[in-house]
Amino acid sequence: MQKLIDSYKHKGMRRNLILTVREKGIHDQRVLDALGKVPRHYFFENVFLEHAYQDKAFPIGEGQTISQPYTVAFQTEKLEINAGDKVLEVGTGSGYQACILLELGAEVYTIEYNKVLYERTRNFLPKMGYKPHFFYGDGSKGLPKKAPFDKIIVTAGAPTIPRSLIEQLAIGGKLIVPVGDNEKQQMLLIEKISPKQLKKKSFDYFCFVPLLGSEGWNE
Ligand code: SAM
Repeated sequence: MQKLIDSYKHKGMRRNLILTVREKGIHDQRVLDALGKVPRHYFFENVFLEHAYQDKAFPIGEGQTISQPYTVAFQTEKLEINAGDKVLEVGTGSGYQACILLELGAEVYTIEYNKVLYERTRNFLPKMGYKPHFFYGDGSKGLPKKAPFDKIIVTAGAPTIPRSLIEQLAIGGKLIVPVGDNEKQQMLLIEKISPKQLKKKSFDYFCFVPLLGSEGWNE
C-alpha cells in the first residue's frame, strides 16, 4: 500500500479531478468537497499512483474495482446525504465510497461479500481515520438486524432491484442501485414514500462488477 502522505502534488491532482467531475455534471458542492478530502492515492499501490487521480475505475484485486470517481459522486449526489443519515453501502470494495459518505457526516454500515477485500479494507480504513461499521456477507439481502436505513447505496450491478433492500429503507429513505445485465446497468433511484408507495427515477447507464448473492446474480 501507498505510504499515507498527502502532498501538495496529490492535492493539486485531486483539484483537477474535481474539475473533471464537475464538468461531467456533478454540482453538489458538498459532494465535490468530500471528493477533495479523501486522498484517493492511498488506495493505490505505489506503481499505479498515476492512475489514482484519473476519472476511471481501477482493479483492486480479487477481480473487483475501486469505482470511477464520477460514478461515486453521481450515486452520492442522488442520495442527498445529510449529516447523521444512517447509510448502508452494499459492496465495500476498497472503502473509498465509504470514506466519501463519512466525510458527508453519515453513519456508514458497509458490507462486503469477498472475504479478502473485507479483511483488507477493515484493517486499512481506520489507519486513514475512517471508521464505518464493517460487515462480511451477502449484502444483496441487506442488513436486516441494523435496518431501517435512511439511504442505501449498491455499488455493484444487480439483475433486479433487491426486494430486501426496499424493505430495509426507512419511510422517506432512498435507495440507489444500478440494474441491468453484465454489460451495462441503468442507475435507479427508489424513494420510499410510504410502506406501500415507491417513487422511481431512472438515470444513465453505468458499468459495474456484478452484485452476487441471493438477490443478485447466482454464483
Ligand atoms: N464501493 C467500492 C469502492 O468504493 O471501492 C467499489 C465496489 S466494487 C465496484 C463492487 C464490490 O461489491 C466488490 O468488492 C464486490 O466483492 C462486492 N459485492 C458483490 N456482490 C456483493 C454482495 N452480495 N454483498 C456485498 N458485496 C458484494
